[in-house]
Amino acid sequence: MKALVYNGPGQKDWVEKEKPGIQKPTDVIVKITKTTICGTDLHILKGDVPAVTPGRTLGHEGVGVVEEVGNAVVNFKPGDPVLISCVTSCGKCANCKRQLYAHCSDGGWILGHLIDGTQAEYVRIPHGDNSLYPIPEGADEEALVMLSDIMPTGLEIGVQYGRVKPGDTIAIVGAGPVGMSVLLTSQFYSPGRIIMVDMDPARLELAKQFGATDTVQVGSEDAVEKIMAMTDGLGVDVAIEAVGVPATFDICQKIVSAGGNVANVGVHGTPVELHIEELWIKNINISMGLVSTNTTPMLLKTLGAGKVDPGKLVTHRFALDKIIDAYEVFGNAAREKAMKVILNA
Ligand code: ZN
Ligand code: ZN
Repeated sequence: MKALVYNGPGQKDWVEKEKPGIQKPTDVIVKITKTTICGTDLHILKGDVPAVTPGRTLGHEGVGVVEEVGNAVVNFKPGDPVLISCVTSCGKCANCKRQLYAHCSDGGWILGHLIDGTQAEYVRIPHGDNSLYPIPEGADEEALVMLSDIMPTGLEIGVQYGRVKPGDTIAIVGAGPVGMSVLLTSQFYSPGRIIMVDMDPARLELAKQFGATDTVQVGSEDAVEKIMAMTDGLGVDVAIEAVGVPATFDICQKIVSAGGNVANVGVHGTPVELHIEELWIKNINISMGLVSTNTTPMLLKTLGAGKVDPGKLVTHRFALDKIIDAYEVFGNAAREKAMKVILNA
């Protein structure tokens, strides 16, 4: 089979690789039908995630059809269409028992990280019963790919950890795919005002179409000053960081109101300066973490009921064997006006 393989910083290749087989009785082999590229894959390619070793197949998102199941798998059989969760979970360990699948003792984020991932014709999913979801009949498969990672990440780490409530004023700093997922899922909780912050005017325009009430363009205006003025000097109830650099975290800690929440979603590679000398008196919470995908069943229901349409985040489509071209487009997202790319097998 063919797979997109990481060969060290800056190097990736679409190569022939051995098709995965069942290694443990709980494994499921999935034939990929659609996958995508995540910002995390770009971080890996820069060499930011040293746990990923040369030869690793990348990718942790996708949908497919069950090809083969281990003899302990009870929920799936060959031919079943499935959604792959970016987080693998055994369902039995102490952390799984409290739905903290991100920290499963035999799973967590391992796909395209510690084991071969989904940017391939076939993938082995450990603990298949707990790490895959059946695809409802008639579901939009492109929209479903957004449920592998970005939608649960936006909902769990941005919206739920940030405790977004009806009527709140919230700011989302970063209008990439995860920031947009925060934007879409925050609307389940009816915030009164959603301020989207980004450098790219095209992304801010898209954010308005997706429900942002206000936009702030970093670079052409001072984001902190503008947001404080917009909120009569009070700041926002929830400031959600969706980039992963010190400057965006700094905006969030400066705009959070007394009693508010800072929810960090971004993946950080360097320390940030925490202004505890100003924040200690403000009765705020700061949260962060890795998605557990415990909201995936709920997101499947909202998708099925037409309450949310993450399919609109898809801007580009490629054949799976053109994945190198897709990386080129996704890696130059501003120039290409790209949000999410879909790869069709
Ligand atoms: Zn991802
Ligand atoms: Zn577990």
